[in-house]
Amino acid sequence: MIVARTVADLRAVLRERSGSIGLVPTMGALHEGHATLLRSARKTDDTVVMTIFVNPAQFNEPSDLAAYPRTEEADLALAASEGVDVVFAPDAGEVYPAGFATTVSVTGPLAETLEGAERGRAHFDGVATVVTKLLLAALPDHAYFGAKDAQQVAVIRRFVADLGIPVTIVVCPTSRDTDGLARSSRNIRLSPEERAQALAIPHALQEVTDAAASGIADTEALRARALATLEASGIHPEYVAFVDPITFAPVTAVARPVLVAIAARVGRTRLIDNTVLGGA
Ligand code: AMP
Repeated sequence: MIVARTVADLRAVLRERSGSIGLVPTMGALHEGHATLLRSARKTDDTVVMTIFVNPAQFNEPSDLAAYPRTEEADLALAASEGVDVVFAPDAGEVYPAGFATTVSVTGPLAETLEGAERGRAHFDGVATVVTKLLLAALPDHAYFGAKDAQQVAVIRRFVADLGIPVTIVVCPTSRDTDGLARSSRNIRLSPEERAQALAIPHALQEVTDAAASGIADTEALRARALATLEASGIHPEYVAFVDPITFAPVTAVARPVLVAIAARVGRTRLIDNTVLGGA
């Protein structure tokens, strides 16, 4: 496995290889969720490139950026064990050289609601700009992202289509611990009590799924059930939203696929999770 620190080195390595390229962007602190993306890429592509870059531009809270776990040695070991061919792990100066003045910005509700509203405009601008740079650096055939970050996926699909970037976006299902909690690099910051409390999030999503399956279509009624489950565990969510999975426009009745997205702080840790109702 080769570790490239510069775009020039990454391109030099990729020029030597033939066949398809799969790109798996990450911020490191790898867990089983990231491994599922790597396995998907390994199955499909001849060369698997994983990136590790904790992107300062997408963090709205300096304390969150400072506390973000950095575990490069373990990440490289996991990447090697999953058969990654190339790890691209640049420093911030490589990604944002002096004079950097360009932003890729998706406008409208897709980028401005939910995560965009809670974390601020700059969050998805930061994501869109860095993912554009990573796609241009590796020029992959496929790029792999997790369904856990559903709004991120929708934003990426939007600018990839709008800019005509020649890549196929592959979305992998959310990987969960055996108790149902969505895997996240931030979970290690939860105390045992907080981790138990956090289970109310997947429980609320399950409650909504069951209620929708039993015929309740009104999203306000479904939302009330989710809120009751969360609040019974002392969780006051930032949002419990029912939206179109592509445009993120609000949905009032479950008639076609609806994304149910939850964001909540448990202690100091901010968690997100989602599920899709009505097919898809
Ligand atoms: P991150 O390192 O948190 O930026 O995540 C890198 C990629 O892994 C993103 O596409 C995430 O959506 C994806 N990912 C993170 N956690 C999970 C999970 N539990 N299941 C599936 N994909 C995930």
